Amino acid sequence: MLSVAVGRYDLAAQFADAWERADDASMGQLLGYPECCVRFFCQFWIIDKLLDPTLSAAARTVGKWSQRIELALPSDGLTSVAWRWLGVRSVFHLPCSLNCEATREVGRQLRSLMIRLERGTEAEWLRQLLAAPFEYSSLHGIAITRTPICKWTHSTDALGTRFDVLGLSSEPWLDGSASGRGHMYRPVAVPAAPTPNLPGPGQIAHEYNSDQNGFPTAWLMRRAHARVLAVVDPRAIESNDSVLDLGCGNGALLAAIVRESGAQAFGVEQNLTRAAAAKERLQVNGDALQTSSIWEYRSARTFGTALISVARLEEYRTFRAYLGRCILARRWVIYDYSGKLVERAEVLGIRLDGVVDNHAGLVVDWGHNA
Ligand SMILES: [Zn+2]
Repeated sequence: MLSVAVGRYDLAAQFADAWERADDASMGQLLGYPECCVRFFCQFWIIDKLLDPTLSAAARTVGKWSQRIELALPSDGLTSVAWRWLGVRSVFHLPCSLNCEATREVGRQLRSLMIRLERGTEAEWLRQLLAAPFEYSSLHGIAITRTPICKWTHSTDALGTRFDVLGLSSEPWLDGSASGRGHMYRPVAVPAAPTPNLPGPGQIAHEYNSDQNGFPTAWLMRRAHARVLAVVDPRAIESNDSVLDLGCGNGALLAAIVRESGAQAFGVEQNLTRAAAAKERLQVNGDALQTSSIWEYRSARTFGTALISVARLEEYRTFRAYLGRCILARRWVIYDYSGKLVERAEVLGIRLDGVVDNHAGLVVDWGHNA
């Protein structure tokens, strides 16, 4: 290795002499480094035989050692050591701290030299990098430094405890800065929370479907179900019975009906999300839960109880023929969550039995109604 010192003849000779004697303090002085920083270097590098100045400089900046050191970075970037591992720095020496005024003065002189050499743009890039926030973390001889635009790993002094240094900055984010939740990244733009209970078009979440079955809240769903349950009377259903819900949604009503009796549950649901939720809730598969329009459903079975909403009947003009001939049930329950069952049934010409609270009623015979 060839080392060369360039300078006035007498100073170059002094430097060669100091080099021969390994006199680091004199060499630092001859290179024009601040006295405080030369002392720091001699202690840190020569006596303590340490490698990575980030932690020591950070501790000296805040005036104490701790496992997590937070610094406010100077916006001039002249004293920062965080980027030294990539060769990015404002001064040649190791600054003793981020508050070192002597280092700041050296940095100012080098910066004005850059500007005189028409490197003002590069000087500004340098300032922006060194003033940018960073996060440094070291453990067991490995350090990671993260900045808004890159991160790097380097070897450091092996310490048994993890140390973190956070360089906090009021600088605007660098061009091309990453986004993220960590402090050194541009904050992630969080979309505004959707207005509860009022999903917009195409925004109906899975949870909305599966927990609330299309009701604004789960509580409203249970309240509506309770009115249907009052008519169905689950206690009257036997364990060997079967219950069919045409348009069963997430299966919550059906589950409530068969819960006590253990009767067999059958459902038809066109909405894929709700059908999947019903399958899971009822622990049924195959024919017991059909994913289709209720008007495509056919079964050879005679159900003990079958349920259908009056709204479904309004969709299908020939519902009588379908329900009377294609689906056999000993007992039909017709319900209306909007609470206008009597009125709506009358419009459809359906004769009801056992109306409770205008929400649910029994239809004894579709054939008779036909
Ligand atoms: Zn200093």
